[in-house]
Amino acid sequence: MSQPEALRFEVTAQNGEARTGLLTTRRGVIETPVFMPVGTAGTVKAIRFEELEGSDLDAKIILGNTYHLWLRPGVETIKACGGLHRFSGWNRALLTDSGGFQVWSLGNLRKISEEGTEFRSHVDGSLQFLSPEVSMEVQATLGSDIVMVFDECTAGDADHEQTEKSVGLTARWAKRSRKAFDRLQEVGADLGRTDAQELSGNQALFGIVQGAGHLDLRRSSLEQTVEIGFDGYAIGGLSVGEEKSVMFDVIGELAPQMPPDRPRYLMGVGTPEDLIEAVARGVDMFDCVLPTRNGRTGQAFTSAGKLNIKNARFAHDPRPLDESCGCLVCRRHSRAYLRHLYLAGEMLASISLTHHNLAFFLDTMRGVRQSIRSRDFPKFRREFTERLTANGEY
Ligand SMILES: [Zn+2]
Repeated sequence: MSQPEALRFEVTAQNGEARTGLLTTRRGVIETPVFMPVGTAGTVKAIRFEELEGSDLDAKIILGNTYHLWLRPGVETIKACGGLHRFSGWNRALLTDSGGFQVWSLGNLRKISEEGTEFRSHVDGSLQFLSPEVSMEVQATLGSDIVMVFDECTAGDADHEQTEKSVGLTARWAKRSRKAFDRLQEVGADLGRTDAQELSGNQALFGIVQGAGHLDLRRSSLEQTVEIGFDGYAIGGLSVGEEKSVMFDVIGELAPQMPPDRPRYLMGVGTPEDLIEAVARGVDMFDCVLPTRNGRTGQAFTSAGKLNIKNARFAHDPRPLDESCGCLVCRRHSRAYLRHLYLAGEMLASISLTHHNLAFFLDTMRGVRQSIRSRDFPKFRREFTERLTANGEY
């Protein structure tokens, strides 16, 4: 009997290019389009797993960062504990990135060669080396349910020649990632295996399409990636300094050409408006640090736009962060109280704003899915975006 597929994906409704689907991982079924909170160092900052799993948020999948976990606490610690699920206590699905983006963002502190990337650790300054093979090994030890290939991100403003070289390297690294990944699955190196009935015991592997803002190179990167063959396909290298119009041109060109029966993942993007626009172009999966990072600096995403809790106008404001939000924070706390917590440096300010922001992103995706199922997505998109941008930032 052949192994069940590492991951199943079924499109359940379509409205224009926008679609809903069911993504079956070895740790449960995920409705798409889905937003995945980012858990960089094995924690989604300022929020406990109980909250993420509760009915208020109900996040079905979160991210872990290979680069960060590899450097600290290190593979040996996570291996001793039997993988990232057991180490951290998160039992739902996990996606890990490859570390490619993080080492790329180190700028002058790294050196990229055909073999891989040499860089200095931001933790202790030691010299480290990351390659497709090392990344696959680390991700097998982490035991994530979805593994990302090791790629080279191309700068948003890279010219055609630079980008072409970079896309070539990404394709060669994708092949090496695939080979190393398959070997590790064969030898049982994956520490996240489950005994779930009728679900695959294997990790799934996603390929990444690069090519900056050059549409011909994006198409060629997509062809080369699909030729190798992956369980899902990601669009990488966006939101790295290019104009927003370029980003949406790339997504609009690429997403409809990606294999329709495989999940499409837009990496590291973006604001609620960005997510809606990408869904309209056919994207299924998203991750972004905005709801958590901005929550810690006092910014709330609301249905009426971005709210800065530091603003003096909220000093006596008895209303919740978002009057249309039913999250636990909005049901209990006033803007005046949250502003007081923030100004007093209380950690509950970060915790509360993070909770609300994640609720807002996850609720938005629920609304998106509902509107696609009822063939109302164009109306949802128009009205949602109008409300969001009516006040700008306030
Ligand atoms: Zn709320």
